Amino acid sequence: TGPELFLPHRPNSKGWDITHRATLAEIDAGREPFKTHEWTGTPLSSAWQTDDTKTARPVLNPANHDDIVGQITWATPEDAKAALDAAKPWDASVADRAAVLRKIAKAYEDNAEEFFALLNREAGKTMLDCVGEVREAVDFLYFYAAEAEIRNPTPRGLWTCISPWNFPLAIFTGQIAAALAAGNGVLAKPAEQTGLIAHRAAQLMHEAGVPEDVLHLLPGSGDIGAALTSDARLGGVAFTGSTATALKIRQSMAETCAPGTPLIAETGGLNAMIVDSTALPEHAVRDILQSAFQSAGQRCSALRCLYVQEDVAEKVIHMLKGGMDELRLGDPWDLTTDVGPVIDAAALKTIQDHIATARDEGRVLHERATPATGTYAAPTVIRVNGIEDLEREIFGPVLHVATYKARDLDRVIEAINATGYGLTFGLHTRIDDRVEQVLEQVHAGNIYVNRNQIGAVVGSQPFGGEGLSGTGPKAGGPMYMPRFADMVVQPVPA
Ligand code: GLU
Repeated sequence: TGPELFLPHRPNSKGWDITHRATLAEIDAGREPFKTHEWTGTPLSSAWQTDDTKTARPVLNPANHDDIVGQITWATPEDAKAALDAAKPWDASVADRAAVLRKIAKAYEDNAEEFFALLNREAGKTMLDCVGEVREAVDFLYFYAAEAEIRNPTPRGLWTCISPWNFPLAIFTGQIAAALAAGNGVLAKPAEQTGLIAHRAAQLMHEAGVPEDVLHLLPGSGDIGAALTSDARLGGVAFTGSTATALKIRQSMAETCAPGTPLIAETGGLNAMIVDSTALPEHAVRDILQSAFQSAGQRCSALRCLYVQEDVAEKVIHMLKGGMDELRLGDPWDLTTDVGPVIDAAALKTIQDHIATARDEGRVLHERATPATGTYAAPTVIRVNGIEDLEREIFGPVLHVATYKARDLDRVIEAINATGYGLTFGLHTRIDDRVEQVLEQVHAGNIYVNRNQIGAVVGSQPFGGEGLSGTGPKAGGPMYMPRFADMVVQPVPA
Protein backbone atom coordinates (compact mmCIF):
# COMPACT_ATOMS: atom_id res chain seq x y z
CA THR A 1 0.00 0.00 0.00
CA GLY A 2 2.23 2.79 -1.15
CA PRO A 3 3.62 4.59 -4.11
CA GLU A 4 6.07 1.73 -4.72
CA LEU A 5 3.16 -0.19 -6.27
CA PHE A 6 3.23 2.12 -9.24
CA LEU A 7 5.80 1.70 -11.96
CA PRO A 8 8.57 4.22 -12.21
CA HIS A 9 9.30 5.77 -15.57
CA ARG A 10 10.49 3.11 -17.98
CA PRO A 11 11.51 3.29 -21.62
CA ASN A 12 9.52 1.66 -24.43
CA SER A 13 10.74 0.35 -27.73
CA LYS A 14 11.74 3.15 -30.06
CA GLY A 15 9.47 1.69 -32.75
CA TRP A 16 9.45 2.35 -36.47
CA ASP A 17 7.05 4.60 -38.33
CA ILE A 18 6.38 2.56 -41.43
CA THR A 19 4.11 5.19 -42.93
CA HIS A 20 7.35 7.09 -43.56
CA ARG A 21 9.00 6.32 -46.89
CA ALA A 22 12.48 7.07 -45.59
CA THR A 23 12.06 4.65 -42.67
CA LEU A 24 10.78 1.96 -45.00
CA ALA A 25 13.74 2.44 -47.31
CA GLU A 26 16.10 2.14 -44.34
CA ILE A 27 14.41 -1.05 -43.16
CA ASP A 28 14.54 -2.45 -46.67
CA ALA A 29 18.26 -1.76 -47.00
CA GLY A 30 18.93 -3.22 -43.54
CA ARG A 31 17.06 -6.42 -44.37
CA GLU A 32 18.76 -6.93 -47.72
CA PRO A 33 21.79 -8.96 -46.49
CA PHE A 34 19.34 -11.36 -44.81
CA LYS A 35 17.26 -12.00 -47.91
CA THR A 36 19.19 -15.12 -48.86
CA HIS A 37 21.03 -15.72 -45.60
CA GLU A 38 20.75 -19.23 -44.12
CA TRP A 39 20.68 -19.38 -40.33
CA THR A 40 21.85 -22.30 -38.23
CA GLY A 41 19.97 -23.18 -35.05
CA THR A 42 20.81 -25.65 -32.29
CA PRO A 43 19.92 -26.17 -28.67
CA LEU A 44 21.72 -23.66 -26.45
CA SER A 45 22.46 -25.02 -23.02
CA SER A 46 25.46 -25.51 -20.76
CA ALA A 47 24.52 -29.21 -20.85
CA TRP A 48 24.22 -29.63 -24.61
CA GLN A 49 26.88 -31.22 -26.71
CA THR A 50 26.64 -31.68 -30.42
CA ASP A 51 27.24 -35.10 -31.89
CA ASP A 52 27.06 -36.57 -35.37
CA THR A 53 23.92 -38.59 -34.75
CA LYS A 54 21.91 -35.36 -34.58
CA THR A 55 20.81 -34.25 -37.99
CA ALA A 56 19.92 -30.70 -38.80
CA ARG A 57 16.57 -30.26 -40.53
CA PRO A 58 15.93 -27.68 -43.23
CA VAL A 59 13.65 -24.74 -42.46
CA LEU A 60 11.60 -23.54 -45.44
CA ASN A 61 9.86 -20.22 -46.02
CA PRO A 62 6.07 -20.74 -45.83
CA ALA A 63 5.63 -18.19 -48.64
CA ASN A 64 7.93 -20.11 -50.97
CA HIS A 65 9.21 -23.57 -50.21
CA ASP A 66 12.20 -23.13 -52.53
CA ASP A 67 13.57 -20.52 -50.14
CA ILE A 68 15.72 -22.26 -47.51
CA VAL A 69 15.80 -20.15 -44.35
CA GLY A 70 18.35 -22.34 -42.60
CA GLN A 71 18.91 -25.54 -40.68
CA ILE A 72 17.90 -26.43 -37.16
CA THR A 73 19.07 -29.22 -34.90
CA TRP A 74 16.41 -30.31 -32.45
CA ALA A 75 17.03 -31.35 -28.89
CA THR A 76 16.16 -34.87 -27.76
CA PRO A 77 14.26 -35.71 -24.55
CA GLU A 78 17.65 -36.77 -23.11
CA ASP A 79 19.01 -33.29 -23.87
CA ALA A 80 16.01 -31.82 -22.09
CA LYS A 81 16.70 -34.02 -19.06
CA ALA A 82 20.38 -33.02 -19.06
CA ALA A 83 19.39 -29.34 -19.24
CA LEU A 84 17.06 -29.81 -16.27
CA ASP A 85 19.93 -31.38 -14.32
CA ALA A 86 22.23 -28.47 -15.15
CA ALA A 87 19.73 -25.60 -14.80
CA LYS A 88 20.06 -23.13 -11.93
CA PRO A 89 18.13 -20.09 -10.76
CA TRP A 90 19.81 -16.79 -11.63
CA ASP A 91 22.17 -15.90 -8.85
CA ALA A 92 22.39 -12.15 -9.52
CA SER A 93 20.89 -9.11 -7.80
CA VAL A 94 17.61 -7.78 -9.10
CA ALA A 95 19.40 -4.64 -10.34
CA ASP A 96 21.89 -6.74 -12.30
CA ARG A 97 19.11 -8.89 -13.79
CA ALA A 98 17.16 -5.81 -14.84
CA ALA A 99 20.28 -4.31 -16.40
CA VAL A 100 20.82 -7.47 -18.47
CA LEU A 101 17.19 -7.49 -19.62
CA ARG A 102 17.61 -3.90 -20.81
CA LYS A 103 20.79 -4.89 -22.60
CA ILE A 104 18.84 -7.61 -24.41
CA ALA A 105 16.19 -5.05 -25.40
CA LYS A 106 18.93 -2.88 -26.88
CA ALA A 107 20.44 -5.88 -28.70
CA TYR A 108 17.02 -6.70 -30.21
CA GLU A 109 16.71 -3.15 -31.54
CA ASP A 110 20.28 -3.17 -32.83
CA ASN A 111 19.49 -6.40 -34.70
CA ALA A 112 15.93 -5.48 -35.68
CA GLU A 113 16.47 -5.82 -39.44
CA GLU A 114 17.75 -9.35 -38.98
CA PHE A 115 14.68 -10.17 -36.89
CA PHE A 116 12.40 -8.59 -39.51
CA ALA A 117 13.98 -10.85 -42.13
CA LEU A 118 13.71 -13.94 -39.91
CA LEU A 119 10.08 -13.16 -39.02
CA ASN A 120 9.33 -12.64 -42.72
CA ARG A 121 11.03 -15.78 -43.93
CA GLU A 122 10.60 -18.30 -41.11
CA ALA A 123 7.16 -17.23 -39.81
CA GLY A 124 5.64 -15.65 -42.95
CA LYS A 125 4.99 -12.35 -41.16
CA THR A 126 4.23 -9.12 -43.00
CA MET A 127 6.30 -5.99 -42.38
CA LEU A 128 3.56 -4.41 -40.24
CA ASP A 129 3.52 -7.50 -38.05
CA CYS A 130 7.32 -7.73 -37.90
CA VAL A 131 7.62 -4.18 -36.63
CA GLY A 132 4.89 -4.72 -34.05
CA GLU A 133 6.48 -7.94 -32.92
CA VAL A 134 9.98 -6.58 -32.31
CA ARG A 135 8.46 -3.61 -30.46
CA GLU A 136 6.39 -5.90 -28.27
CA ALA A 137 9.37 -8.11 -27.42
CA VAL A 138 11.40 -5.04 -26.44
CA ASP A 139 8.53 -3.65 -24.38
CA PHE A 140 8.18 -6.94 -22.46
CA LEU A 141 11.87 -6.81 -21.56
CA TYR A 142 11.66 -3.23 -20.26
CA PHE A 143 8.35 -3.81 -18.49
CA TYR A 144 9.33 -6.92 -16.53
CA ALA A 145 12.76 -5.43 -15.71
CA ALA A 146 11.03 -2.41 -14.14
CA GLU A 147 8.49 -4.64 -12.41
CA ALA A 148 11.25 -6.73 -10.83
CA GLU A 149 13.06 -3.65 -9.60
CA ILE A 150 10.06 -2.30 -7.75
CA ARG A 151 8.81 -5.63 -6.38
CA ASN A 152 12.08 -7.38 -5.55
CA PRO A 153 10.73 -10.90 -6.24
CA THR A 154 11.99 -14.19 -4.80
CA PRO A 155 12.43 -16.82 -7.53
CA ARG A 156 10.49 -20.09 -7.49
CA GLY A 157 13.39 -22.03 -9.07
CA LEU A 158 13.15 -23.38 -12.60
CA TRP A 159 10.50 -22.46 -15.17
CA THR A 160 9.61 -24.16 -18.39
CA CYS A 161 8.49 -21.69 -21.06
CA ILE A 162 6.68 -23.12 -24.10
CA SER A 163 5.94 -20.55 -26.77
CA PRO A 164 3.93 -20.51 -30.03
CA TRP A 165 4.94 -19.89 -33.65
CA ASN A 166 2.47 -17.02 -34.16
CA PHE A 167 4.50 -14.64 -31.95
CA PRO A 168 7.86 -16.40 -32.18
CA LEU A 169 9.80 -13.44 -30.83
CA ALA A 170 7.34 -11.48 -28.66
CA ILE A 171 5.72 -14.30 -26.68
CA PHE A 172 8.96 -16.31 -26.57
CA THR A 173 10.68 -13.26 -25.07
CA GLY A 174 7.82 -12.20 -22.79
CA GLN A 175 7.63 -15.53 -20.98
CA ILE A 176 11.40 -15.78 -20.57
CA ALA A 177 11.83 -12.13 -19.55
CA ALA A 178 9.25 -12.47 -16.76
CA ALA A 179 10.81 -15.71 -15.50
CA LEU A 180 14.34 -14.26 -15.59
CA ALA A 181 13.28 -10.93 -14.05
CA ALA A 182 12.00 -12.93 -11.07
CA GLY A 183 15.38 -14.68 -10.81
CA ASN A 184 14.43 -18.13 -12.10
CA GLY A 185 16.32 -20.51 -14.33
CA VAL A 186 14.52 -21.13 -17.64
CA LEU A 187 14.04 -24.11 -19.95
CA ALA A 188 12.61 -22.66 -23.14
CA LYS A 189 10.91 -24.77 -25.80
CA PRO A 190 9.97 -22.68 -28.83
CA ALA A 191 7.43 -23.87 -31.39
CA GLU A 192 8.89 -26.38 -33.82
CA GLN A 193 8.07 -24.12 -36.80
CA THR A 194 10.10 -21.15 -35.51
CA GLY A 195 13.25 -22.50 -33.89
CA LEU A 196 15.63 -20.21 -35.79
CA ILE A 197 14.06 -17.01 -34.48
CA ALA A 198 14.19 -18.43 -30.96
CA HIS A 199 17.82 -19.47 -31.43
CA ARG A 200 18.86 -15.98 -32.54
CA ALA A 201 16.98 -14.40 -29.62
CA ALA A 202 18.49 -16.79 -27.07
CA GLN A 203 21.96 -16.13 -28.47
CA LEU A 204 21.47 -12.41 -27.84
CA MET A 205 20.21 -13.17 -24.32
CA HIS A 206 23.36 -15.15 -23.54
CA GLU A 207 25.61 -12.51 -25.10
CA ALA A 208 23.93 -9.83 -23.00
CA GLY A 209 24.84 -11.72 -19.83
CA VAL A 210 22.24 -14.39 -19.02
CA PRO A 211 24.39 -17.36 -17.92
CA GLU A 212 24.21 -20.54 -20.01
CA ASP A 213 23.23 -22.63 -17.00
CA VAL A 214 20.35 -20.22 -16.29
CA LEU A 215 18.76 -20.09 -19.76
CA HIS A 216 18.49 -23.30 -21.79
CA LEU A 217 17.01 -23.30 -25.29
CA LEU A 218 15.59 -26.66 -26.34
CA PRO A 219 14.07 -26.52 -29.81
CA GLY A 220 12.11 -29.58 -30.83
CA SER A 221 8.71 -31.18 -31.00
CA GLY A 222 6.09 -32.22 -28.46
CA ASP A 223 8.32 -34.81 -26.78
CA ILE A 224 10.56 -32.00 -25.51
CA GLY A 225 7.54 -30.18 -24.11
CA ALA A 226 6.46 -33.41 -22.42
CA ALA A 227 9.90 -33.90 -20.86
CA LEU A 228 9.95 -30.32 -19.63
CA THR A 229 6.50 -30.39 -18.01
CA SER A 230 6.80 -33.61 -16.03
CA ASP A 231 9.55 -33.00 -13.53
CA ALA A 232 9.27 -32.58 -9.77
CA ARG A 233 12.01 -29.93 -9.80
CA LEU A 234 9.94 -27.40 -11.73
CA GLY A 235 8.89 -24.13 -10.09
CA GLY A 236 6.31 -23.48 -12.79
CA VAL A 237 5.30 -23.71 -16.44
CA ALA A 238 4.32 -20.91 -18.81
CA PHE A 239 2.56 -22.06 -21.95
CA THR A 240 0.92 -20.34 -24.91
CA GLY A 241 -0.82 -22.58 -27.44
CA SER A 242 -3.94 -24.68 -27.77
CA THR A 243 -6.44 -25.35 -25.01
CA ALA A 244 -6.05 -29.10 -25.60
CA THR A 245 -2.28 -28.97 -25.01
CA ALA A 246 -2.75 -26.79 -21.92
CA LEU A 247 -5.01 -29.47 -20.44
CA LYS A 248 -2.40 -32.17 -21.18
CA ILE A 249 0.27 -30.09 -19.47
CA ARG A 250 -1.95 -29.61 -16.44
CA GLN A 251 -2.48 -33.36 -16.27
CA SER A 252 1.21 -34.13 -16.51
CA MET A 253 2.07 -31.49 -13.89
CA ALA A 254 -0.61 -32.90 -11.59
CA GLU A 255 1.11 -36.28 -11.76
CA THR A 256 4.69 -35.10 -11.28
CA CYS A 257 5.00 -31.63 -9.74
CA ALA A 258 4.39 -30.32 -6.24
CA PRO A 259 0.71 -29.43 -5.75
CA GLY A 260 1.22 -25.66 -5.74
CA THR A 261 3.30 -25.48 -8.93
CA PRO A 262 1.74 -22.76 -11.10
CA LEU A 263 0.76 -23.18 -14.74
CA ILE A 264 0.27 -19.98 -16.69
CA ALA A 265 -1.62 -20.93 -19.86
CA GLU A 266 -2.69 -18.58 -22.63
CA THR A 267 -4.83 -20.54 -25.06
CA GLY A 268 -7.38 -20.08 -27.81
CA GLY A 269 -10.47 -18.03 -28.36
CA LEU A 270 -13.72 -17.85 -30.28
CA ASN A 271 -13.73 -14.10 -30.42
CA ALA A 272 -16.79 -12.11 -31.41
CA MET A 273 -17.55 -8.54 -32.42
CA ILE A 274 -20.96 -6.87 -32.37
CA VAL A 275 -21.71 -4.05 -34.81
CA ASP A 276 -25.02 -2.32 -34.15
CA SER A 277 -27.03 -0.02 -36.39
CA THR A 278 -25.54 3.14 -34.86
CA ALA A 279 -21.96 2.15 -35.67
CA LEU A 280 -20.04 4.09 -38.30
CA PRO A 281 -19.82 1.49 -41.11
CA GLU A 282 -16.51 2.69 -42.63
CA HIS A 283 -14.90 2.63 -39.22
CA ALA A 284 -16.33 -0.76 -38.29
CA VAL A 285 -15.31 -2.34 -41.59
CA ARG A 286 -11.72 -1.13 -41.28
CA ASP A 287 -11.53 -2.66 -37.79
CA ILE A 288 -13.20 -5.91 -38.92
CA LEU A 289 -10.67 -6.29 -41.74
CA GLN A 290 -7.73 -5.79 -39.38
CA SER A 291 -9.14 -8.00 -36.64
CA ALA A 292 -9.99 -10.90 -38.95
CA PHE A 293 -7.28 -10.82 -41.62
CA GLN A 294 -4.14 -9.12 -40.28
CA SER A 295 -1.49 -11.77 -39.51
CA ALA A 296 -3.56 -14.01 -41.84
CA GLY A 297 -5.91 -14.44 -38.87
CA GLN A 298 -3.22 -16.24 -36.92
CA ARG A 299 -3.66 -14.46 -33.61
CA CYS A 300 -5.54 -15.91 -30.71
CA SER A 301 -7.08 -12.45 -30.35
CA ALA A 302 -8.40 -12.46 -33.95
CA LEU A 303 -12.06 -11.89 -34.77
CA ARG A 304 -13.80 -15.17 -35.64
CA CYS A 305 -17.50 -14.33 -35.48
CA LEU A 306 -19.01 -11.00 -36.44
CA TYR A 307 -22.58 -10.14 -35.42
CA VAL A 308 -24.09 -7.34 -37.48
CA GLN A 309 -27.47 -5.84 -36.65
CA GLU A 310 -29.91 -6.84 -39.37
CA ASP A 311 -30.82 -3.25 -40.35
CA VAL A 312 -27.25 -2.45 -41.49
CA ALA A 313 -26.06 -5.94 -42.41
CA GLU A 314 -26.37 -5.62 -46.17
CA LYS A 315 -24.42 -2.39 -46.24
CA VAL A 316 -21.69 -3.56 -43.85
CA ILE A 317 -21.19 -6.89 -45.63
CA HIS A 318 -21.10 -5.17 -49.01
CA MET A 319 -18.38 -2.80 -47.76
CA LEU A 320 -16.54 -5.66 -46.13
CA LYS A 321 -16.34 -7.54 -49.43
CA GLY A 322 -15.02 -4.42 -51.11
CA GLY A 323 -12.40 -4.00 -48.40
CA MET A 324 -11.35 -7.65 -48.71
CA ASP A 325 -10.80 -7.19 -52.43
CA GLU A 326 -8.32 -4.41 -51.66
CA LEU A 327 -6.13 -6.59 -49.41
CA ARG A 328 -2.80 -7.43 -50.98
CA LEU A 329 -2.00 -11.09 -50.67
CA GLY A 330 1.51 -12.25 -51.33
CA ASP A 331 5.09 -12.57 -50.22
CA PRO A 332 5.48 -10.94 -46.81
CA TRP A 333 8.95 -9.76 -47.81
CA ASP A 334 7.19 -7.26 -50.08
CA LEU A 335 6.59 -4.13 -48.00
CA THR A 336 3.09 -3.62 -49.42
CA THR A 337 1.75 -7.09 -48.54
CA ASP A 338 -1.23 -7.13 -46.17
CA VAL A 339 -1.82 -10.88 -45.87
CA GLY A 340 0.96 -13.45 -46.02
CA PRO A 341 0.86 -17.25 -45.89
CA VAL A 342 -0.29 -19.40 -43.00
CA ILE A 343 2.41 -21.19 -41.08
CA ASP A 344 2.48 -24.63 -42.73
CA ALA A 345 0.72 -27.22 -44.85
CA ALA A 346 -1.08 -28.83 -41.91
CA ALA A 347 -2.55 -25.47 -40.85
CA LEU A 348 -3.56 -24.75 -44.43
CA LYS A 349 -5.33 -28.08 -44.77
CA THR A 350 -7.44 -27.51 -41.64
CA ILE A 351 -8.46 -24.07 -42.92
CA GLN A 352 -9.19 -25.31 -46.46
CA ASP A 353 -11.27 -28.23 -45.19
CA HIS A 354 -13.34 -25.84 -43.10
CA ILE A 355 -13.91 -23.53 -46.08
CA ALA A 356 -14.72 -26.50 -48.35
CA THR A 357 -17.47 -27.69 -46.00
CA ALA A 358 -18.98 -24.21 -45.89
CA ARG A 359 -18.77 -23.98 -49.68
CA ASP A 360 -20.59 -27.31 -50.06
CA GLU A 361 -23.31 -25.97 -47.80
CA GLY A 362 -23.57 -22.75 -49.83
CA ARG A 363 -22.47 -20.55 -46.93
CA VAL A 364 -19.42 -18.82 -48.42
CA LEU A 365 -20.25 -15.14 -48.87
CA HIS A 366 -16.93 -14.03 -50.25
CA GLU A 367 -13.50 -15.48 -50.90
CA ARG A 368 -10.24 -14.38 -52.42
CA ALA A 369 -7.95 -16.29 -54.75
CA THR A 370 -4.51 -17.10 -53.34
CA PRO A 371 -0.97 -16.89 -54.75
CA ALA A 372 0.27 -20.08 -56.38
CA THR A 373 3.36 -20.77 -54.26
CA GLY A 374 3.51 -21.34 -50.53
CA THR A 375 0.87 -22.13 -47.93
CA TYR A 376 -1.61 -19.33 -48.55
CA ALA A 377 -5.14 -19.50 -47.20
CA ALA A 378 -7.76 -17.38 -48.95
CA PRO A 379 -9.37 -14.65 -46.84
CA THR A 380 -12.94 -15.89 -46.68
CA VAL A 381 -16.26 -14.84 -45.17
CA ILE A 382 -18.71 -17.56 -44.16
CA ARG A 383 -22.33 -17.05 -43.15
CA VAL A 384 -23.44 -18.63 -39.86
CA ASN A 385 -26.60 -18.46 -37.77
CA GLY A 386 -24.61 -17.68 -34.67
CA ILE A 387 -21.38 -18.39 -32.84
CA GLU A 388 -22.80 -21.76 -31.73
CA ASP A 389 -22.23 -22.94 -35.33
CA LEU A 390 -18.46 -22.66 -34.81
CA GLU A 391 -17.28 -25.94 -33.43
CA ARG A 392 -13.72 -24.79 -32.81
CA GLU A 393 -11.24 -22.04 -33.45
CA ILE A 394 -10.10 -21.94 -37.09
CA PHE A 395 -6.67 -20.34 -36.92
CA GLY A 396 -6.57 -18.49 -40.21
CA PRO A 397 -8.12 -15.69 -42.31
CA VAL A 398 -11.69 -16.96 -42.05
CA LEU A 399 -14.43 -14.71 -40.75
CA HIS A 400 -17.91 -15.97 -39.82
CA VAL A 401 -20.79 -13.53 -40.01
CA ALA A 402 -24.22 -13.66 -38.38
CA THR A 403 -26.98 -11.08 -38.31
CA TYR A 404 -29.15 -10.28 -35.29
CA LYS A 405 -32.26 -8.30 -34.47
CA ALA A 406 -31.95 -5.43 -31.97
CA ARG A 407 -34.29 -7.11 -29.51
CA ASP A 408 -32.08 -10.23 -29.46
CA LEU A 409 -28.90 -8.57 -28.22
CA ASP A 410 -29.04 -10.28 -24.82
CA ARG A 411 -29.37 -13.66 -26.51
CA VAL A 412 -26.37 -12.92 -28.73
CA ILE A 413 -24.25 -12.12 -25.69
CA GLU A 414 -25.45 -15.27 -23.95
CA ALA A 415 -24.40 -17.32 -26.98
CA ILE A 416 -20.96 -15.67 -27.02
CA ASN A 417 -20.45 -16.40 -23.32
CA ALA A 418 -21.74 -19.96 -23.76
CA THR A 419 -18.76 -20.91 -25.95
CA GLY A 420 -16.76 -21.13 -22.73
CA TYR A 421 -13.93 -19.11 -24.26
CA GLY A 422 -13.32 -15.54 -23.17
CA LEU A 423 -10.35 -13.90 -24.84
CA THR A 424 -11.19 -10.80 -26.89
CA PHE A 425 -14.45 -9.12 -27.74
CA GLY A 426 -15.22 -6.11 -29.93
CA LEU A 427 -18.13 -3.70 -29.97
CA HIS A 428 -19.00 -0.99 -32.46
CA THR A 429 -21.80 1.32 -31.32
CA ARG A 430 -22.40 4.99 -30.70
CA ILE A 431 -24.76 4.43 -27.77
CA ASP A 432 -22.98 4.94 -24.44
CA ASP A 433 -25.54 2.97 -22.40
CA ARG A 434 -25.11 0.01 -24.71
CA VAL A 435 -21.37 0.06 -24.13
CA GLU A 436 -21.98 -0.08 -20.37
CA GLN A 437 -24.53 -2.87 -20.72
CA VAL A 438 -22.38 -5.03 -22.98
CA LEU A 439 -19.24 -4.51 -20.88
CA GLU A 440 -21.11 -5.81 -17.90
CA GLN A 441 -22.48 -8.87 -19.64
CA VAL A 442 -19.64 -10.18 -21.81
CA HIS A 443 -17.06 -12.50 -20.27
CA ALA A 444 -13.79 -11.76 -22.04
CA GLY A 445 -10.29 -10.81 -20.97
CA ASN A 446 -9.83 -7.98 -23.48
CA ILE A 447 -12.79 -5.91 -24.63
CA TYR A 448 -12.34 -3.27 -27.31
CA VAL A 449 -14.91 -0.60 -28.14
CA ASN A 450 -14.99 1.17 -31.51
CA ARG A 451 -11.57 -0.10 -32.58
CA ASN A 452 -9.96 -3.31 -33.79
CA GLN A 453 -9.56 -6.17 -31.33
CA ILE A 454 -5.95 -7.24 -31.89
CA GLY A 455 -2.60 -5.85 -30.83
CA ALA A 456 -2.76 -5.38 -27.06
CA VAL A 457 0.02 -3.05 -25.89
CA VAL A 458 2.42 -4.13 -23.11
CA GLY A 459 1.87 -2.19 -19.90
CA SER A 460 -1.31 -0.45 -21.13
CA GLN A 461 -3.52 -3.34 -22.21
CA PRO A 462 -2.59 -6.48 -20.26
CA PHE A 463 -3.53 -9.43 -22.48
CA GLY A 464 -5.20 -12.69 -21.53
CA GLY A 465 -8.53 -14.46 -21.25
CA GLU A 466 -10.70 -16.49 -18.98
CA GLY A 467 -12.42 -19.88 -19.09
CA LEU A 468 -11.12 -22.04 -21.95
CA SER A 469 -8.93 -19.12 -23.07
CA GLY A 470 -6.45 -19.27 -20.25
CA THR A 471 -5.50 -19.12 -16.61
CA GLY A 472 -4.25 -15.54 -16.34
CA PRO A 473 -2.49 -13.54 -15.10
CA LYS A 474 -2.47 -11.32 -18.16
CA ALA A 475 0.78 -10.88 -20.05
CA GLY A 476 2.16 -7.35 -20.01
CA GLY A 477 0.22 -6.52 -16.84
CA PRO A 478 1.30 -5.96 -13.24
CA MET A 479 0.20 -9.40 -12.01
CA TYR A 480 2.23 -11.39 -14.55
CA MET A 481 5.84 -11.29 -13.35
CA PRO A 482 4.84 -11.88 -9.69
CA ARG A 483 3.29 -15.25 -10.66
CA PHE A 484 6.80 -16.37 -11.62
CA ALA A 485 7.97 -15.46 -8.12
CA ASP A 486 7.22 -16.55 -4.61
CA MET A 487 5.46 -13.43 -3.39
CA VAL A 488 2.16 -11.98 -2.32
CA VAL A 489 0.94 -9.22 -4.59
CA GLN A 490 -0.67 -6.32 -2.76
CA PRO A 491 -3.76 -4.93 -4.44
CA VAL A 492 -3.29 -1.44 -5.77
CA PRO A 493 -5.15 0.93 -3.38
CA ALA A 494 -8.29 2.53 -4.78
N1 GLU B 1 -1.28 -10.24 -27.89
C1 GLU B 1 -1.76 -10.47 -29.22
C2 GLU B 1 -2.83 -9.50 -29.59
O1 GLU B 1 -3.27 -8.74 -28.75
C3 GLU B 1 -2.26 -11.89 -29.43
C4 GLU B 1 -1.36 -12.93 -28.85
C5 GLU B 1 -1.62 -14.32 -29.41
O2 GLU B 1 -2.12 -14.49 -30.51
O3 GLU B 1 -1.21 -15.26 -28.70
O4 GLU B 1 -3.24 -9.49 -30.71
